[in-house]
Amino acid sequence: MPELPEIAVYKKYVDATSLHKKITEVEFGDELLFDVSKKELYNACVGKEFTESERIGKHLLIHVEDNDWMSLHFGMTGGLKYFKDKEDRPDYIGLLLRFNNGFHLAFTCPRKFGRIGMTERPEQFREDKNLGPDALEIDKDRFVEIFKEKRGMLKSALMDQKTICGIGNIYSDEILFQANMHPESQVQNLSESELEDLYDVMQEVLSTCIDKGAQYSEYPDNYIIPNREEGSSCPKCDGTIAKIKVSGRSTYYCASHQKK
Ligand SMILES: [Zn+2]
Repeated sequence: MPELPEIAVYKKYVDATSLHKKITEVEFGDELLFDVSKKELYNACVGKEFTESERIGKHLLIHVEDNDWMSLHFGMTGGLKYFKDKEDRPDYIGLLLRFNNGFHLAFTCPRKFGRIGMTERPEQFREDKNLGPDALEIDKDRFVEIFKEKRGMLKSALMDQKTICGIGNIYSDEILFQANMHPESQVQNLSESELEDLYDVMQEVLSTCIDKGAQYSEYPDNYIIPNREEGSSCPKCDGTIAKIKVSGRSTYYCASHQKK
């Protein structure tokens, strides 16, 4: 499922391809869930341009000139493709915007669950969805302050979008793997300096993955993401990768260097 680094890459993609071009047509597929009527979306977009975009956690918001912001959530497998020619047209299009330069932006979602809505402004969206501060934008003091009040398992806290938003199953595993912390460690047992270390590692992992274009194959050799397999060798020590369930999610970690 796309998480913060993937959405940050989609934001760059939209900014590089789809701003300041007049939208001439909007088409709908049946691959998406719409939180707004198709008619409203159509009327909001046709004849207008996208002016800017903003990422909040795992959501991408795109401002429609003189109007509201379109919100995109990528579900399990959503993606974006900017293309011109018919032979480049992707499958599973949920929403297709045509621009006056002959190009299109497709929002694709092979396994559905992607969502589109409209919101008046990004802050309103954050409040409506009850999202905490963005994991990449939050500063260290605020992070420590928030996590000092948390109880329960560390991995669950990192994934809780109301606490901080943007991190899901895959990247919480990576952050804890790099921070040498066990996913089932209790947040309340961490010292202030351990929380500061966790924050630093979180920033490092997220920015590294964004720099690498969110391409798993480009991630550093000592990352667990390309090695998510039970029984495989730990890329950081002599240990072995183990698999457990945390908050119902498959969790991979190294029992040797990630102690509770
Ligand atoms: Zn290890």
